[in-house]
Amino acid sequence: MRHIAILGATGSIGVSTLDVVMRHPDRLRVFALSAHSRMEALAAQALACDAPVVVVPDAPARERFEAAWPAGRPLPEIRVGAQALADTAADPGCDTVMAAIVGAAGLPSAFAAARAGKRLLLANKEALVAAGGLFMQAVRDSGGELLPIDSEHNAIFQCLPSSGAARAPAEPARGVRRLLLTASGGPFRTRTLESLAGVTPAEACAHPNWSMGRKISVDSATMLNKGLEVIEAHWLFAMPADRLAVVVHPQSVVHSLVEYDDGSVLAQLGQPDMRTPIAYGLGFPERIAAGVSPLELARIGRLDFEEPDLVRFPCLGLAWDALRLGQWACIALNAANEIAVEAFLEGRLGFTDIAPVIAGTLERATGATGVPGSLEDVLGADVAARETARALAAHRRVA
Ligand code: NAD
Ligand code: MG
Repeated sequence: MRHIAILGATGSIGVSTLDVVMRHPDRLRVFALSAHSRMEALAAQALACDAPVVVVPDAPARERFEAAWPAGRPLPEIRVGAQALADTAADPGCDTVMAAIVGAAGLPSAFAAARAGKRLLLANKEALVAAGGLFMQAVRDSGGELLPIDSEHNAIFQCLPSSGAARAPAEPARGVRRLLLTASGGPFRTRTLESLAGVTPAEACAHPNWSMGRKISVDSATMLNKGLEVIEAHWLFAMPADRLAVVVHPQSVVHSLVEYDDGSVLAQLGQPDMRTPIAYGLGFPERIAAGVSPLELARIGRLDFEEPDLVRFPCLGLAWDALRLGQWACIALNAANEIAVEAFLEGRLGFTDIAPVIAGTLERATGATGVPGSLEDVLGADVAARETARALAAHRRVA
């Protein structure tokens, strides 16, 4: 029996995780659920799966959770605050942690799970982008397991030579030449550069293949999501930047590929449904049902591939720059993007102003040398980059 903490339970990944967990009462049990807002949704989830523990951000959220709880049912233990979230990720009551909080806000709790030697199912890519080296070292030191949940990285994990274990590698797998990440191209794949300036948050969030949270949906529209994923792959698979590549594949059926020295290319295919990688991580090394319908290749008919366009999607190029510049630049890239995307979603910044805000923040942040030595270093640089990005975004504010 696995006991699971789902951090970010009310989000897109969290809901899919709970769906898979509840299909397997014989082997999977919820230990804790966390959410940041939507306390009614959290209460409904906790009721449905009988969660012994919930984690909420503050006292008002606790009150809203209690108000949403039906009279006559015993309340779960309610833990409050960011420290409680990290403590819950490291709690002996769970052996498996789904890190599905969005953004660098999810870093401390994911890091706590890595340090505590849990099986970590990592959806939160921002944690690896900001703190890749520290993160992988923490997994190695604790002897924990790391299973990538991002569909591309899960696909690569499945296509790499298997050791039967999910350890954090310190060098590239032998015999592997390159990792190829597929990208859907997002909702604006065929749009002209000129037409992108006026796109709305609703258009940016209307992803053609995947249903996801709003932040990652905008990241897919700018293609920064793929850039974050290149950095994520660099850390997860200890792969140098020049052996990583991106190929646009609009159908989102081939989730990514591994190219070997002998010329073989292995791919993982499936429906664009995150329950497949989630079930893979929960069941590993066994395969368990995910509730996902079979892939009907004859109905799909064709699979297309094309080069990414860095002129229309400059954010992807900025991520490659940050990866080559080093860890401090990656922290700045991620922080600036979070600020710019938030401003775009709130109507304070144009879509095509996201890239200049990131570029400007990168320019101002590349002075630091060496690598961050601690989580505090990372979080400090994250806060500083956010301030820079906020000032740049205010300057470019849409009327
Ligand atoms: P979402 O916005 O749907 O959900 C985010 C969850 O995090 C919610 O439960 C929310 O309450 C919680 N949260 C938000 N801010 C928080 C904070 N400051 N502190 C604590 N909790 C907070 O996001 P999502 O689409 O589920 O994505 C979650 C993560 O998974 C992201 O890092 C994303 O990049 C990654 N991911 C998502 C998908 C997908 O299909 N949705 C695919 C691959 C990777
Ligand atoms: Mg992905």
